[in-house]
Amino acid sequence: MTQNPAAPAFAAAAETKKAPLSPLSGLAPFVRPYKGRVAAALAALTLASAATLAIPLAIRRMVDFGFRAEERGLVDAYFGVMLGVVAVLAVASSLRHYLVMTLGERIVADVRTAIFAKIMALDSAFFDRTRAGDIVSRLTADTTQIKSTFGASASIALRNVLLFVGAVAMMIVTSPWLSALVIGAIPLIVLPLVFAGRGVRGRSRAAQDTLAEAAGFAAERIGAARTVQALNGQGAAVAAFRGAAQSAYEAARRSTLARSILTGVGIFLVFASVIAVLWTGAQSVIAGTMSPGRLSQFVLYAVFAASSLGQLSDVYGDVSQAAGAAASIAELLDEQPLVQEASHPVPVAKGQGAIAFSGVGFAYPARPEARVFDGLTLTVAAGERLAVVGPSGAGKSTLFQLLLRFYDPQAGSISIGGVPIAGMSLADLRDQIALVPQDPVIFAASIGDNIRLARPGASDEDVRKVARLAAADGFITRLPQGYDTLVGERGVTLSGGERQRLAIARAMLRDAPILLLDEATSALDAENEQEVQAALDAAMEGRTSLVIAHRLATVRDADRIIVLDQGRIVEEGRHADLVAQNGLYARLASLQFGGADR
Ligand code: ATP
Repeated sequence: MTQNPAAPAFAAAAETKKAPLSPLSGLAPFVRPYKGRVAAALAALTLASAATLAIPLAIRRMVDFGFRAEERGLVDAYFGVMLGVVAVLAVASSLRHYLVMTLGERIVADVRTAIFAKIMALDSAFFDRTRAGDIVSRLTADTTQIKSTFGASASIALRNVLLFVGAVAMMIVTSPWLSALVIGAIPLIVLPLVFAGRGVRGRSRAAQDTLAEAAGFAAERIGAARTVQALNGQGAAVAAFRGAAQSAYEAARRSTLARSILTGVGIFLVFASVIAVLWTGAQSVIAGTMSPGRLSQFVLYAVFAASSLGQLSDVYGDVSQAAGAAASIAELLDEQPLVQEASHPVPVAKGQGAIAFSGVGFAYPARPEARVFDGLTLTVAAGERLAVVGPSGAGKSTLFQLLLRFYDPQAGSISIGGVPIAGMSLADLRDQIALVPQDPVIFAASIGDNIRLARPGASDEDVRKVARLAAADGFITRLPQGYDTLVGERGVTLSGGERQRLAIARAMLRDAPILLLDEATSALDAENEQEVQAALDAAMEGRTSLVIAHRLATVRDADRIIVLDQGRIVEEGRHADLVAQNGLYARLASLQFGGADR
């Protein structure tokens, strides 16, 4: 999976946490591809601000000279010009709105894709400690916050920055000394706002985190609704969710309270200073040192400046919130998988699939103190059919996980066809392997597409062929829409045996030299079992097969059986030899396969 090249830069920028808004600077790589659109938006913005700033000029002229009968022509001209200015303002504003809003949508679509690509590239250790719902919340709620910043807030902020700068410049032109008074007051207004903004950002991040937690909880329960209901756990689940929703609300309320106070204080400080300046100006008009028109013009600019500053403080709250969201996203994008792609992968073609584990030591990252393997050595010849048996927790599935590089061993090495798997690209490695898991995952799609996941370009004929081999064609063609029948999420509309046969068909479509099979017999009745066994035999034909065996037929037909106990191979041989040894295998066999065969 290729990652968005912007992602690392984004993450790196988020690390510098000195300025409260710094995580947002990490979005720059996502903005860069749209330079043209940004420039057009800025142009529209400048035009709209210039048009707004032209209005007070016209008003001053009218106040000072306009309302006289002999100047009627002049009044007409001024009103005509104003109408033109307003038209420019309208067109530029709607352009600005369109350009900026779509820019926000565009950037967020890219950020979402980058997050999803990143997550798809992460290793199992990450998924062991993270709930899917949490990540989905990052993908939706956090990015939505960034979208509103890049859309509405950025537009408002830029417009107001321009208006503010323009209005202050015009204030200075209109009356330098009144302006000096206003400018002197600015730090008094801005500094407390900036300071308060930091608090908003922290609170907002806390709100997003609790929201993600609640979403994670909900997604997990929704995914397992039947289990929850079977355990009569709805009441407890709803109560727990209510608690999570309540704390998300509390966190959001605190963040909003901080913002509301920030807005109120901002408005008061800004307008109070305008009133003070207006009062000073009024004294000058009374004293005759300033014309009423000039004061009107100044006041209008001061109101523009003040209201743009007020809006900026409001937007600052928004932007602070988005910075909180950006920091969470950056953390996710910065996640380093423990399983790394080889820096110079050895190219490997689909080979014969001889497997060697040598001196493998492994403990799951989530439980480093519990070693699953300590110096495991095992070789499987190309084309060999190896059955793996052993008590629950012996490490059977872990063998598969290591072979697929879902985790890397801490000691020793694993190779396929003589090439260490750590030196292959992950794609090449996994191309060598087809896996039929114990509990196959079926996606909400058509049956045909579910099989085709194993090889996206496969023709309908290929899909049918493997379905026939996997003894799945019969039940599929009996469905109303055959291969086009949609199955519910996780294949809930299929029986366990049907799901398993689809998984076998998938594995056969992959046509990989190595087949990993985690047998499950629980889902099958006797007739089904025979069909599936035939399918499995077909699948194993000519492939190196590692089978976690639960069926007698598998162990009896295996070229070799290994018995794992607490991560060690304690017995090894063919079925009859092992039964004769009367050890752990004989005991397991009599329990598992009902002793009849002994
Ligand atoms: P079963 O027949 O019950 O499926 P198994 O032989 O396949 O058992 P493994 O799944 O390989 O056993 O598990 C070996 C050990 O590793 C167990 O003690 C298990 O609790 C632990 N384990 C398995 N998966 C993880 C994980 N993702 N994180 C931490 N520990 C794990």
